[in-house]
Amino acid sequence: MKCIALLFVGLLSAFSCKAQNDSAVFASVFKEALTHGECYSRLGELCKTIGSRLSGSDNAEKAVAWGLNMLSSYHFDTVFTQPVMVPRWERSNTELLTLSSAVLYKKLKKGVASNYNCEAFEESTRVSRRFRLPAVALGGTVGTAGKLSASVVSVHTDAELDSLGKSGMLRGKMVLLNRAFPEENLNTFASYGACVSQRVWGASRCAVYGAAAVLVRSMSNRCDLHAHTGVMLYADSVRKIPAMAVATAVADMLDQLITEDPRMKITMELGCRTLPDRQSANVIAASTGTVYPAKIIAFGGHFDSWDQGEGAHDDGAGCMHAFEALRILKAIGYKPRHTLCCVWWMNEENGLRGATEYAAVASANRESHVAALESDRGGFTPRGFGVDTAILSRILPFKPLLEKYGIGTLENGGGGADIGPLKKYNPSTVLISFIPDSQRYFDVHHAETDVFENVNKRELELGAAAVAAMIYILDQELE
Ligand SMILES: [Zn+2]
Repeated sequence: MKCIALLFVGLLSAFSCKAQNDSAVFASVFKEALTHGECYSRLGELCKTIGSRLSGSDNAEKAVAWGLNMLSSYHFDTVFTQPVMVPRWERSNTELLTLSSAVLYKKLKKGVASNYNCEAFEESTRVSRRFRLPAVALGGTVGTAGKLSASVVSVHTDAELDSLGKSGMLRGKMVLLNRAFPEENLNTFASYGACVSQRVWGASRCAVYGAAAVLVRSMSNRCDLHAHTGVMLYADSVRKIPAMAVATAVADMLDQLITEDPRMKITMELGCRTLPDRQSANVIAASTGTVYPAKIIAFGGHFDSWDQGEGAHDDGAGCMHAFEALRILKAIGYKPRHTLCCVWWMNEENGLRGATEYAAVASANRESHVAALESDRGGFTPRGFGVDTAILSRILPFKPLLEKYGIGTLENGGGGADIGPLKKYNPSTVLISFIPDSQRYFDVHHAETDVFENVNKRELELGAAAVAAMIYILDQELE
């Protein structure tokens, strides 16, 4: 009886000793992030000395060189690049969307156009009755080979698109795909998910009905004059028609103007093109495990970005979270049991080639990835994590400690575009998603406003600390 009691006391003290240790590690991680953080200044360097990093661009290659050099300066155990061929689509200087509308022109002259969000058009290039609209080519679109003019039809649902298409109403028209973000969702990623198909497949859906081109409402909750680009794809057997994103305020204005001025016309001129693939690279830094050096915990974000803005939130922030997590754990003297691997994947936005190559190499080399964490939802205040169902019960005991740092949200199920391929090769790899607050992400996502100035220093640092804390938990809990 005495023995059992002693054993019980022993177990209890071992348990509380471990809990105290976890708590001390968390305290050190957050203190290091908030008092000696380096992710914010490094993100500033990336955004301001290089800027956007579209796959296949010279800027993306400059970023790879910068990343290799920057990570090497921290003397992690390994720093290297992993080559990968990436697609190359290029925007051109010829990128113009103009509106000709006698009705709008008259209203502007009379000063009664306040409902049309047209202050911006007055400021921009106005040549007689043509107004330049804030719009950008979608990534992957074909060009227009000269000017393409057409009248506009606005559609809000797939059913409306099919109904108008079948009655021949889209033939020769420019179709405005105008499904707005559902505002009732708490999580804005759910709203994005509900709308993004019109951006990705809208051109081919409309081409089937003989449309000349498509305009896609920007994927954002916000009503403003910034157009948001993003990837679009063509179905194989369908004619390729050009596609541009228009700012949400413009989409609303056109919706109204279509009924008031049936004779209005829009002219599109796009010179973008697709070039042969080019060699690029994933950028990787690792601290070798002291107990299981051959077992890897990978964590990172994508290093490429769209060519609007500076890719600050998407996904410079995720890359800096991962680098900073690796740096913090080293700085506080933590000796990882597994090999901790910070990965900046190339080409998530328009191909996923980097993540596919990373997983293929891991599989060919028989590397064992026990877990992978992805941060690709911006540098906003951290809330918690999406956790692979297989290990949720092992993470739940940490919830009170995570809650102390405001990161106690634990959703069942983790994943992400860049870590998904690892699980395809090895179903036992545990996937974790980093979850920050989502309310402002789509204000800037893929737009010219995704710049360093729109990243908050404290929020970014807290995100990096959250990632470091979760990597510590995984390192402790997994075999
Ligand atoms: Zn992203």
